Amino acid sequence: MGDQAGPYQVAISQVQRVGELLGLDQGMIDLMTRPKREFTVNFPVTMDDGTIKVFTGFRVQHNFARGPCKGGVRYHPAVTLDEVRALAMWMTWKCATVGLPYGGSKGGVICDPKKMSRGELERMTRRYASEIMPIIGPHVDIPAPDMYTDSQVMAWIMDTYSMNVGYSVPGVVTGKPLSLGGSEGREEATSRGLTYCVREAMAMAGLRSSEATAVVQGFGNVGWNAARLLRDELGLKIVALSDSSGGIYDPAGLDPVSVHEHKRLTGSVMGYPGATSITNDELLELDCTVLVPAALENVITSANADRIGARIVAEGANGPTTPEADQILYEKGILLIPDILCNAGGVTVSYFEWVQDLQFLFWSNAEIKNRLNDIMTYAFARVYATAGAREVDMRTAAYLLAVGEVVQATKLRGIYP
Ligand code: NAD
Repeated sequence: MGDQAGPYQVAISQVQRVGELLGLDQGMIDLMTRPKREFTVNFPVTMDDGTIKVFTGFRVQHNFARGPCKGGVRYHPAVTLDEVRALAMWMTWKCATVGLPYGGSKGGVICDPKKMSRGELERMTRRYASEIMPIIGPHVDIPAPDMYTDSQVMAWIMDTYSMNVGYSVPGVVTGKPLSLGGSEGREEATSRGLTYCVREAMAMAGLRSSEATAVVQGFGNVGWNAARLLRDELGLKIVALSDSSGGIYDPAGLDPVSVHEHKRLTGSVMGYPGATSITNDELLELDCTVLVPAALENVITSANADRIGARIVAEGANGPTTPEADQILYEKGILLIPDILCNAGGVTVSYFEWVQDLQFLFWSNAEIKNRLNDIMTYAFARVYATAGAREVDMRTAAYLLAVGEVVQATKLRGIYP
């Protein structure tokens, strides 16, 4: 399979390979790769000019063996059913890797939210929520934010669901505003989980933080919080940062807070005083201790993997490394912390939010951090030990564990009837 394979094909090939390593029969591999439910909805929305526009949305539920499904909703013009299938499957493995009692799901609506008014977005969200209502719920499938959906969109979904059942159900979605049953710590959760993984990886590799440097691609929610936490909590020197306009480099160290302010004022990290401009491609190849891809998928490929200059790659983004590049990095001795482990802090704090909503009892930020630390540290240790014992890379190790957990749950439950 080449670097350009579609996401669902990549997702299937990963499980096929791991299924063979686990000695699974083809029927079980097929069960692990095919989504349990795929729901496509076409629905009308009245636009601001009075016309009716028909939108297409999806909700794919990949697997229920270990609990209700969990996964985000994406609003994007290029959303496809195939992409949603792959993202749903990756959620199953992510939840199993960190031991959350969930299967994976994902949703999407084909739309261009940047060209829609707030009223149009609200009406579209409420109608989409109504259309998928038969298959979501706090014990069935719990949506969350993803690309171009946020806490406001989650509040509309929560309200639509609640209005239809006749009482408030905060646990139907996560990523809500704090005042509607959201959780402390959700905003930085993905990056905090990543930071705990980097701390463990550096300890395993015998790297000292006083001499360590980090390079972060992408300066959105994950990239900015990762840069801040890697510096403030681990003491790493942040030598390069980037966004979609390009990158900035300063071997003396960048202050992520001040770069964040610069981006807020100017719209980009570019032009930050005292830093040298570099391209996103050059940034990936810088010599550093930790490289954090936190923007797009497929940025480390067979074309550049050989020139990656980091000791550790911490995948903040989903799918930034192609299978071909994985192999090259492994042979170079680079320790890669795979997305389904490294960025699982986000869904872990979503799980905390759901648990708090079901109990109507809320935790402090300190408790969230402690619990997240416990879960990420344990998950990292399991994946690292499996990689060593089976002599495989960390991604294969995480998949061996995750697919193994779901297969075990499936076998214990039995094939119904
Ligand atoms: P975001 O939209 O907040 O930020 C994305 C950043 O990437 C922006 O700074 C943007 O300028 C930058 N970017 C876009 N195109 C780029 C390019 N070509 N080169 C360099 N930078 C580019 O998104 P986010 O929430 O930070 O998510 C980033 C990645 O992390 C995605 O892959 C997402 O699926 C993954 N992820 C996010 C979370 C979460 O909790 N937010 C959880 C798990 C995984």
